[in-house]
Amino acid sequence: MEESFDYLVVGSGFGGSVSACRLAEKGYSVGVIEMGRRWNPSDFPKSTWNLRRWIWRPGMKLHGFYNMRPFRHVMILCGNAVGGGSITYGNTMLVPPDSVWGEGSWQGLGDWVHEMPAHYATARRMLGVTQNEILGEADTMLEAMAKDQGVGASFYRTDVAVYFGDGPGIEKPDPFFGGDGPARSGCIGCGGCMVGCRFNAKNTLDKNYLYLAEKRGAQVMAETRVVDLEPLGERGSDGYRLTVERSTAWFAKRRHTLTARHVVLAASALGTMDLLMKLKQRGRLPAISDRLGYDVRTNSESIVGVRFPGRRNKARDMSKGIAIGSGIHIDHCTHIEAVRYSRGSDVLGLMATLLVTGEGWKRIFAWMWSSLRHPIKFARASWPFGFARQTLIFLVMQTIDATLRFRLKRRWYWPFTRLLVTEGDRIPTNIPAANEFALRAAKAFDGIAITSSSEILFKMPMTAHCIGGCVMGATASEGVIDHQHRVHGYQNLYVVDGSAVGANLGVNPSLTITALAERAMTFIPAKLQSQRTTP
Ligand SMILES: Cc1cc2nc3c(=O)[nH]c(=O)nc-3n(C[C@H](O)[C@H](O)[C@H](O)COP(=O)(O)OP(=O)(O)OC[C@H]3O[C@@H](n4cnc5c(N)ncnc54)[C@H](O)[C@@H]3O)c2cc1C
Ligand code: SF4
Repeated sequence: MEESFDYLVVGSGFGGSVSACRLAEKGYSVGVIEMGRRWNPSDFPKSTWNLRRWIWRPGMKLHGFYNMRPFRHVMILCGNAVGGGSITYGNTMLVPPDSVWGEGSWQGLGDWVHEMPAHYATARRMLGVTQNEILGEADTMLEAMAKDQGVGASFYRTDVAVYFGDGPGIEKPDPFFGGDGPARSGCIGCGGCMVGCRFNAKNTLDKNYLYLAEKRGAQVMAETRVVDLEPLGERGSDGYRLTVERSTAWFAKRRHTLTARHVVLAASALGTMDLLMKLKQRGRLPAISDRLGYDVRTNSESIVGVRFPGRRNKARDMSKGIAIGSGIHIDHCTHIEAVRYSRGSDVLGLMATLLVTGEGWKRIFAWMWSSLRHPIKFARASWPFGFARQTLIFLVMQTIDATLRFRLKRRWYWPFTRLLVTEGDRIPTNIPAANEFALRAAKAFDGIAITSSSEILFKMPMTAHCIGGCVMGATASEGVIDHQHRVHGYQNLYVVDGSAVGANLGVNPSLTITALAERAMTFIPAKLQSQRTTP
């Protein structure tokens, strides 16, 4: 028999978990469909070399939680797991400046500046956001570099969703939800947050919103991918039929259908765009706005860093602390965070190379020239082993706006189906202010400035902050959803995830996605007592 719900939520990341929790609280029957696996602290890999447990690529039998998706313009990093990106993210929870509400597609659609502070406050409380209590060597080094370059006053400890409690490793019964939540342990500062917290200290969604949603009856279907969605009645007036299949199986995919009166799409910017574009193309949801896939942003992000290799740096350890422990502002629009991986998690070192400045071919020639002139430096910058211990990674974000467009296209190398591709102007990979900061810091502190080879060779920056693509608009000609996250042209269909973000935040987006989801859920009334079914 086809299982039926009041609400089906597609994706269990920030948007999905908030929606599931609030809808379950309002008395609805809720199903959460998540294509990633469910993780326990003891299942996480000890380092990124354990690709089978780290990378999500089910077609290759890699059933981890971290995904890298290369496109022509950008390499997008994202998380696939029960708990979405929270399982692999760097915990940093920053509120963007008020100015973002007067920019982009959402301007004028709500009284954002007055409404949002209350939702940010709820999101912070639910996610247990607090100031970082553990400064590692990477953080003190960033502060010293900032002082050296005259911006020391801008140094700050990040606000993070981590439990520090009474000290490293000390377990406490639920410290956040008056006994309704799980027991937790104090952070030990191992730097492994992005490889999965094995110490029960990271406030991932399966320990707050999703945990509470399940306690209130929501049913989480892990390793289950939504592949089709059919409106029932006039444009979804009677709900939707969803076709799902097992995401981790090669053959026995056990395809079946589920129905729901309402559907919340929360599959992340990439996942929701991909699903909606395929549904529009197949004629399932033909009335979806033509703005779908426009206004995709990346926070104008770039990843550079300083590596401290060799015997003289043997005592240094940049891997200690929490994943993103501190930050600085080097000018009015450029912000740098100190990032690290846990000791031994060196795989990303395979992509590191010497940092050189310049644009396009000139940059590639400068990089080749520099590598030939300084072969030892080149080898040390690119040698993967020891990367996490030796490297202070700079996550650079700018408030300067730049957008991309995504669409489906048949590619010569995969003619069987249309794939998601990027179009439009390239997002600048070369952020001169940040590059110069890294080069000066490397010189002053006896290190080697590095960047990613994809940035130099293919002008392809890496971003973990892909947002937009289903942005808000007053009408379907201006956006895919309205300011209450309802999809234009359909009934009972919502988009509540990073794809709804309508401006460049200039800071890590998860807190804003959570706060927007909290706001979206306030527009949905509680289920009437008379409609509730007693189990
Ligand atoms: C390494 C890394 C570090 C990061 N660090 C930070 C940070 O410090 N601070 C910050 O704010 N942000 C950070 N981010 C970004 C953050 O993780 C994302 O912005 C956030 O998770 C997006 O939330 P979301 O609700 O849009 O979707 P997600 O959290 O991405 O969740 C979407 C979920 O939907 C599932 N899904 C997709 N398609 C389907 C389908 N068809 N069927 C079923 N399920 C589906 C996916 O598996 C995924 O679990 C980081 C990201 C990465 C990868
Ligand atoms: S630093 Fe280690 S213990 Fe602390 S939250 Fe991150 S992974 Fe968990």
